[in-house]
Amino acid sequence: YQAKRAESGTMIYDASTDEHDVGELAMGTELRRALENEEFVLHYQPKVALADQCVTSVEALVRWQHPTRGLLPPGVFLPALERSGLMQPLTRWVLREAIRQAASWRRAGMPLAVAVNISPRSLLEDDLPARVLAKLLAADLPASFLELEITETAVMTDPKKAALVLAQLNARGIKVSIDDFGAGYTSLAHLRTLPISALKIDRSLISHMLERDEDHAVTEALIGLGHRLGLTVIAEGIETDEVLDRLTQLGCDEAQGYLISKPVAPDALEGWMAARAVDQGSPSAQVS
Ligand code: C2E
Ligand code: MG
Ligand code: MG
Ligand code: MG
Repeated sequence: YQAKRAESGTMIYDASTDEHDVGELAMGTELRRALENEEFVLHYQPKVALADQCVTSVEALVRWQHPTRGLLPPGVFLPALERSGLMQPLTRWVLREAIRQAASWRRAGMPLAVAVNISPRSLLEDDLPARVLAKLLAADLPASFLELEITETAVMTDPKKAALVLAQLNARGIKVSIDDFGAGYTSLAHLRTLPISALKIDRSLISHMLERDEDHAVTEALIGLGHRLGLTVIAEGIETDEVLDRLTQLGCDEAQGYLISKPVAPDALEGWMAARAVDQGSPSAQVS
């Protein structure tokens, strides 16, 4: 039962047992096959501007349409995929698919920028900017329709290299956000020097900001800091009207979360966008 073993291999990480090694191997094989068979799909979650409720872009989030286990979230397979050395081919596929989708939406009269999550290792690959540009050209999509989300880890692992890659992306007109901000240890002095356009405040701070004074204080400070540095500030993980209202009061620029929309398949996003367009102007068009 390879699948069973693969499952236990990823859930219980114990490098000291043979069981794990077998499970890890089986999982690696399964993931390699999944890449070849294109079993991965992208769901999209909108980000909206708090000032006017307009959709600013959509974030592409990968899922595995597993032949027997159903639709799997990235938390279940990304760690094993990374350990199997398969992050690079996955990143290439995600970029290609997100760019294809954005180009297709644009041709259909739904111009939407798409944000792609880039793992630390993928960011530090030498040819990322060149490959991204080649894909945009092939799809005939302007660079302003692509955004990349990177984490603090990527920036701090190899600051010099990261700065070089970010400069190259910036020169090509590709916007970069720092994802999960406030959950890690980015040196603020370093952040100031990087050509990034947005900070996404981590869900761990946002979800408790109304109950925990410390989280509220940090969130408020991060919004101020981001603005001082000329960055767009985005809050992720908004689940209630109360949190949305407070973030609006604090001057946060954009919001993302289940309250607005969960990540959904492309056709569901099209329906959601169409429904909002119809509602425009009426009170129900407001997310708050
Ligand atoms: P992330 O980039 O910070 O994405 C946000 C995650 O929070 C998503 O989980 C999203 O579904 C979830 N989320 C959004 N709003 C809410 C909310 O209001 N409440 C709650 N409880 N959750 C919310 P998901 O899709 O499971 O992705 C998890 C992580 O996996 C992502 O975190 C990202 O780091 C990574 N990931 C996803 N897709 C890719 C990809 O294509 N490439 C890479 N390298 N990483 C990816
Ligand atoms: Mg993200
Ligand atoms: Mg995030
Ligand atoms: Mg996050």
